[in-house]
Amino acid sequence: MEVDLVSHKYVYAFSEGNGSMRELLGGKGANLAEMTKLGMPVPQGFTISTEACTKYYDDGRKISDEIQAEIMEHIVKLEETAGKKFGDNENPLLVSVRSGARASMPGMMDTILNLGLNEDVVKVLADKSGNPRWAWDCYRRFIQMYSDVVMEVGKKYFEELIDKMKEEKGVTEDVDLTAEDLAVLAGQFKDEYKSKIGKDFPTDPKEQLMGAIEAVFRSWDNPRANVYRRDNDIPYSWGTAVNVQMMAFGNMGDTSGTGVAFTRDPATGEKKLMGEFLMNAQGEDVVAGVRTPSPIAQLHDVMPEVYDQFVEICNTLENHYRDMQDMEFTIEDKKLYMLQTRNGKRTAKAALKIACDLVDEGMISEEKAVAMIDPRNLDTLLHPQFDAKAIKAATPIGKALPASPGAACGKIVFTADDAKAWGEKGEKVVLVRLETSPEDIEGMKAAQGILTVRGGMTSHAAVVARGMGTCCVSGCQEIKMDEENKQFELDGKTFKEGDYISIDGSTGNIYDGIIPTVPAEIAGEFGRIMDMADKFRTLKVRTNADTPADAKKARELGAEGIGLCRTEHMFFEADRIAAFREMICADTVEEREAALDKIMPYQQSDFEALYEALEGCPVTIRFLDPPLHEFVPTEEADIEALAKAQGKSVADIKAIINSLHEFNPMMGHRGCRLTVTYPEIAKMQTKAVIRAAINVSKAHPDWKIVPEIMIPLVGEVKELKFVKDVVVATADKEIAAAGVELKYEVGTMIEIPRAALTADEIAKEAEFFCFGTNDLTQMTFGFSRDDAGKFLDAYYDTKIYESDPFAKLDQAGVGQLMKMAVKLGKQTRPDMHCGICGEHGGDPSSVEFCHEIGLDYVSCSPFRVPIARLAAAQAAIKSK
Ligand code: ADP
Ligand code: MG
Ligand code: MG
Repeated sequence: MEVDLVSHKYVYAFSEGNGSMRELLGGKGANLAEMTKLGMPVPQGFTISTEACTKYYDDGRKISDEIQAEIMEHIVKLEETAGKKFGDNENPLLVSVRSGARASMPGMMDTILNLGLNEDVVKVLADKSGNPRWAWDCYRRFIQMYSDVVMEVGKKYFEELIDKMKEEKGVTEDVDLTAEDLAVLAGQFKDEYKSKIGKDFPTDPKEQLMGAIEAVFRSWDNPRANVYRRDNDIPYSWGTAVNVQMMAFGNMGDTSGTGVAFTRDPATGEKKLMGEFLMNAQGEDVVAGVRTPSPIAQLHDVMPEVYDQFVEICNTLENHYRDMQDMEFTIEDKKLYMLQTRNGKRTAKAALKIACDLVDEGMISEEKAVAMIDPRNLDTLLHPQFDAKAIKAATPIGKALPASPGAACGKIVFTADDAKAWGEKGEKVVLVRLETSPEDIEGMKAAQGILTVRGGMTSHAAVVARGMGTCCVSGCQEIKMDEENKQFELDGKTFKEGDYISIDGSTGNIYDGIIPTVPAEIAGEFGRIMDMADKFRTLKVRTNADTPADAKKARELGAEGIGLCRTEHMFFEADRIAAFREMICADTVEEREAALDKIMPYQQSDFEALYEALEGCPVTIRFLDPPLHEFVPTEEADIEALAKAQGKSVADIKAIINSLHEFNPMMGHRGCRLTVTYPEIAKMQTKAVIRAAINVSKAHPDWKIVPEIMIPLVGEVKELKFVKDVVVATADKEIAAAGVELKYEVGTMIEIPRAALTADEIAKEAEFFCFGTNDLTQMTFGFSRDDAGKFLDAYYDTKIYESDPFAKLDQAGVGQLMKMAVKLGKQTRPDMHCGICGEHGGDPSSVEFCHEIGLDYVSCSPFRVPIARLAAAQAAIKSK
């Protein structure tokens, strides 16, 4: 073969790589290389780089001749190392083909085992090994996996054939099938393949290999992978690597087996080896939940030496990576092989405990501890737990494995599609299944909790649920499932679709009916990590809260102020809406002022309560923002009542309501435009804010209350000046009348692109900026958040967008406007403070961006406050 000296290297033997080459070799490949370097027993092989995957797509979904040649060179090398040959009639080489992206994407990509088998090779193996059952088991598995992964024939046809065979033979377990049974099955599988694909099953190992590699590349773009990437902020451009590795056979009989293990408990973080294994099994048997595996400790009884060796390797790996490891291993006839290690996925609770423990064990610094926790994960800790009293009083009707902690209570559904559909209707559901598979992902996301009949702590359901922070109880074998009729039996009771059930993912308990849940709090290790985070972060974290209750919750979670109080939320309560509607339907300024006078005391006392709750921390109060038609009555009775209160005819009121109609309310008569037309509204709101601040300051002289009044939807400095003049005149009059000193600030939301573009001008009037990135995103993209759902999926499918710009800040567009506005604003007013109060204020990657462009604070909903605190700390650590 000709070697092109200038050609790019796309393939790396495990012995050529190392753990730091994750970008090029993917996580799995880099760690296989690292374990090889550490002298661990790793079946040898090579990694086809992520660059090859990118090239595959660039080349129009083709593996170039150049890369194919490089792969075959490595096969030759592997054959030399192994002393076996691909497709050989003496000593055949079998390999696995495994995907492995930079970030682990469990269950997203597919693996093929036992590649290199055909009718001749399987006979050689059967004869030479003296273990024909093993040989045929490998072959039928290979046909099954290859058909499914490479040719997308679908698993179920093969599973049906297996079930039929087991029934005919009167056995319940796969392992009870004989060599002859498996040989017959392999034949049936190939027939199935031919009938579905219209061609014979490929016999040439090289053709099999290229087909498998291509399938891995292709799987990078499958819908499941795309959804997973979007949920986990993984860019499409990264691509996946492919690992080709010699097989280690766990299915050779009772001296062989396979398993998975964690160096610490991934659910609680407790420091103890945790895992499961199955004898005489291969690959995914453990996680697939086909048979119920044994706890890893029992391996000690089965094979003490192998167990000791494994424990030693686990310790070495954890010390080496200084983090909890998740490992896969296979025992081939009493010989241990390591097949994978990675930093294990864990629940938020475990993540916090492990980080703290590693600090205490002297393994890592506090900085590392803060950096190693995924902020998005914390969300799960902020979810409700069962009410302690109610749970004590309740009697479980069943118990299974506590696969992913948290509490869930909801209506039973039996399919992922139902979970999704019911979830969209706002129902809380618990998804009950025999076992879950990757297709169920969206349904699992929509469910409050997941309950499975089969599978262990490392089953698909368990792993995925932990990743999502969804409560999961797995392997409840007492359930008599009748999926077809959407019902099951447990504890002598039949449960139907829509019945309530409660499950506890921390204990594994299952309860009939509704058990109330209570919100979580920050304590223990959570509090400790938060304290560490606060040491590193420079960005302040405020909250978006409109009520004292929300504000209090947010303060408990660490909020340092309110970044956005939406005053209009205060108008909807029954006793206020009437006066507000009178204000809207007023014909004259006097009538309007009379109605506003009724509202004023409510607003003032609301603001007083907020200032009280915040204990002197800053509170930004945004003036009335939405279009007025959102407040008018729609029910006939309400319209009549309003007419009566106003001394107007129903027809008059209806005419007023009609006149408020707008073609595009998002861009209509709202925000500061309301004040330009009705300055009385801003006057009333100013009075309420200033009087509240004066009163609370009098009661608490030690609090430094500086009211921050925020004017929404400004696009032009003169517009802001007009409103500010109204506010300042009113405020100064109030302060003078009270005979006190009170500093206050008038600032603006930056949520219209024109405001960002003219921020230097705006800053002449605005004493602070707060980026309202929900509107700023809408206005910059030119589509509304409420309607984007109609086409975003198509945009994801076509890779035009990789994520929802309303969830994750669009740094290239919206972000640039922000960056520019900060720069221009500070040119005019160097001491001005800038914050963000859109949804993005609680999204980790957006928080990082806010840190980079020099914002003073982010403001997010109360339950995102800890996430923002951690994300802000990580951004500070990263930029050091
Ligand atoms: P995933 O990323 O979904 O875990 P893997 O590539 O790790 O996929 O493989 C799936 C299963 O096959 C795992 O149980 C793994 O240990 C097993 N496996 C992969 N390659 C080999 C091999 N060369 N020998 C034995 N088992 C293997
Ligand atoms: Mg897999
Ligand atoms: Mg794996």
